[in-house]
Amino acid sequence: MTAIKKKKREGTLFVISAPSGSGKSTLCRELLRKIPGIKLSVSYTTRKPRKGETNNIHYTFISQKRFKNMINSGEFAEWAMVHGNLYGTSIKRLKKLNKEGYDIILDIDVQGAFQVKNNYKDAVYIFILPPSMEILKQRLMNRKTDSKEAITRRLDRAKDEILSYKEYDYVIINDKLEKAYRDLESIIISARLKTKNIDHKKIIDFIKKWR
Ligand code: ADP
Ligand code: 5GP
Repeated sequence: MTAIKKKKREGTLFVISAPSGSGKSTLCRELLRKIPGIKLSVSYTTRKPRKGETNNIHYTFISQKRFKNMINSGEFAEWAMVHGNLYGTSIKRLKKLNKEGYDIILDIDVQGAFQVKNNYKDAVYIFILPPSMEILKQRLMNRKTDSKEAITRRLDRAKDEILSYKEYDYVIINDKLEKAYRDLESIIISARLKTKNIDHKKIIDFIKKWR
């Protein structure tokens, strides 16, 4: 029997990708509201804020110049150009959340997910799909945050993104929201129950108290 190390549990990195409009933000918001101990890594972007978005909560909105400086000084765990804007995950933010013991959600596109795969071997990769392209289009139109041209661009790109689903550990089809949410929550919970992810210190402590 291997000795149990008296080590605090380490957070898990959950990488979640989906074609724009699939419901990824809706599902992640629900997760953050309902499950304690998990946080979203707030990305940097050169995109302009949408109505209702707050700096440093939804994204940290920065100029292209600052973003390029951050690339050059190696501050990103991954970065990518998505729909004409730059997006990136800060290494410093990941380290801080990890040190604080949180599980972390990375809501990033497929290019970013592939970069993370090279550096974070233990991450869990989740892909969210809409039930059909027609429903995806409908959701993008109902959301009313993008122009007609932007919606066409997002749908064109969706086809290529969807082809990457096989690279992910889990696939969730977001048809009925409640069911998709339960699926997502189950993945998070089962990752937390893995022996390597549990709080070994807690177990050692309760054994010690008995002796
Ligand atoms: P993403 O973050 O993937 O771009 P959003 O979470 O913004 O997508 O969702 C796109 C739109 O679809 C939003 O208006 C959201 O309320 C709606 N939506 C999300 N999931 C569902 C669902 N299961 N059924 C119907 N509408 C949904
Ligand atoms: P939106 O502009 O709709 O918020 O996001 C567009 C796309 O950019 C989404 O697919 C989202 O997952 C992705 N994205 C957001 N932040 C990052 C990031 O830090 N890195 C990468 N690679 N993609 C991101």
